[in-house]
Amino acid sequence: MAFLNGCEAVARGAWEAGAAFVGSYPGSPVTGVVEGLLRFPEIKTQWMANEKVALEAAIGAAHAGQRALAVMKHVGLNVAADPFFNVAYTGTRGGLVIVVGDDPGAKASQNEQDTRQLAQAAHVPVLEPSDIDEALIFPRLAFEISEQFDVPVVVRVTTPICYGTSRTVMGARRQVLPNLGFAAPIEKYLLLPAFVPARHKDLVRRIDRLANGHWSRWFMQTLMPAERLEKYPYGIVVTGFPYHAVREPFEGRAPILKVGMSYPLNEEAILEFAARCDRILVVEESSRFLEQRIRALGVNVAARPHFDGVGEFSLKHLESPDIPEIAERLQERIGHKRIVIPIRHQATTPESHSGLPLPPRPPGFCAGCSHRGIFYTLGKRDLYVVGDIGCYTLGALEPHGALHANLCMGASLGILQGYLAAMGPEAARSCIAVIGDSTFFHSGIPSLLTAVTAKIPGTILILDNAGTAMTGFQLTNRPLKRDDWERLLHALGVPEFAVVDALDVDQLESTLDAFLASDRLSVMVVKGDCVQGLPRKGPTNYRYTIKTDLCTQCGECLKVDCPAIVPSWDRQTARLDSVAISTECIGCGLCSQSCPEHAIIPRTLSFKSSVLTRMIAPVPWHRVIRRLRAIPPIRKLLNAFEKETH
Ligand code: SF4
Ligand code: SF4
Repeated sequence: MAFLNGCEAVARGAWEAGAAFVGSYPGSPVTGVVEGLLRFPEIKTQWMANEKVALEAAIGAAHAGQRALAVMKHVGLNVAADPFFNVAYTGTRGGLVIVVGDDPGAKASQNEQDTRQLAQAAHVPVLEPSDIDEALIFPRLAFEISEQFDVPVVVRVTTPICYGTSRTVMGARRQVLPNLGFAAPIEKYLLLPAFVPARHKDLVRRIDRLANGHWSRWFMQTLMPAERLEKYPYGIVVTGFPYHAVREPFEGRAPILKVGMSYPLNEEAILEFAARCDRILVVEESSRFLEQRIRALGVNVAARPHFDGVGEFSLKHLESPDIPEIAERLQERIGHKRIVIPIRHQATTPESHSGLPLPPRPPGFCAGCSHRGIFYTLGKRDLYVVGDIGCYTLGALEPHGALHANLCMGASLGILQGYLAAMGPEAARSCIAVIGDSTFFHSGIPSLLTAVTAKIPGTILILDNAGTAMTGFQLTNRPLKRDDWERLLHALGVPEFAVVDALDVDQLESTLDAFLASDRLSVMVVKGDCVQGLPRKGPTNYRYTIKTDLCTQCGECLKVDCPAIVPSWDRQTARLDSVAISTECIGCGLCSQSCPEHAIIPRTLSFKSSVLTRMIAPVPWHRVIRRLRAIPPIRKLLNAFEKETH
């Protein structure tokens, strides 16, 4: 027994099933699954450039005979849709399981799409765990089904399952002896048009066999009231996380059918259950996937006006004008109290126990974030900035307000090309694209190649912080050095490019000016480090400080928007009273470049003598320190002083 969160449970389940290979690209809510898997030395776990590559690598391992897993968020499955649809045709030798994290409520996503819709279109079975125990067991069963029915299997987990925790029984790792070899025969594994119709027919046959066999029945669990009736006024069919929310108030009151495999559906079992009830209420997260399938069977399904598939699951979703008893029961059972669901959410913060309202915590860049410099620069210009998916989306927020649109991974470069095609090359002076390094390698390169081939103008900024930062900093590709970038962009045929220091505002300004004035396609790689990847253990000696005798309270440094800069306001006049720098500062030096009075200097150079301080203050210390750190013996000395390595 151990306390596991949903992601750890899925990871443990895959390990217990004997999985040997995992490919993934990070994305909430399932990044934790891969981080959990990285703890198991028996499994080769790899971050990949994107979800398509991750699934293809898992397919390769499964075709070779190993049990393989691919992990991605729901929008990642769109990227992997090509291999996803086709591997259902070829089938697999070793078990192939795809864990997909859906995000009802879009807490950390671009949309709320329902993976079940895509899986049904591809004829890929879907298992939906309802709690942490099932999050551990279902991956194990998914591997069994995958091998028995020669299909990939999706384990669909949603945000509340991933982030909930519970005491869970764990098992031992299954010893799987893979029959390693190359996939054959050719008629099965080579999707030539001549072979495709037969493969499609075979896939439909495999799915029908699964739908009508014992597995689909096994995943259905019925809870009947103690009072036996010929026919009940209503029954509830539920799948996934809402199961416990339904069970607590309605067990013993109404028949409940839990569906653990939402595709393919055992229609006979659904009809048997429905035959015992006047109406059926279908409860699920995201879209009305299950409801539509049950309606299509001719079952009398109750209307749910509060359920439109938008947002997280709520008990309000259970209310139906067709079954007034449901609302009455909820009122009687729950009243104003919160329902007890046997999944504990992450620990609450101490403030929540005080009874005081929690202060708002708007999202923002970390202290010392290397994206801040470019958005500080862009925020001062009148540009339309097409962004991409990553931390830098936060550049849209005030005080920067310097990002105006985004769509999906890698789309910014294509959208820029569309703007230029529609508005003419002159638009390149006022519209630019911004993309992160991880997103660029994920799916930005093909768009850049298209732009090069089309010989369009335009400015593209690649914000390189050497990793996939938004999800907690994972290395999905090899970090590139300055020379590597130059070689890559040269090889791609980009006519004009530069690699600039993300924390040097003058360099950012002058390079951006030059590129905006250019008639050629220009790529500016803004190179910095994600602070999440720095080996920091506490406050740094390199942090900056504000000399109060030089500060005029102009407020310019607040536009840098660093959480380490703490303003204090005069309550009477609402004017800036003073500014200070907290120990959160990592010494990036960005704010010092914004101060017109040179009042922000490295703390170690803050002398008592104000004459001396005034003399040294105008020196561009951020540049001096960076240059010194580039010299190995001096870096060693500085590190000894710092006792850290950033
Ligand atoms: S130097 Fe300035 S901008 Fe950089 S982390 Fe410290 S306070 Fe923030
Ligand atoms: S920019 Fe400089 S002078 Fe202005 S408030 Fe900040 S520290 Fe003071």
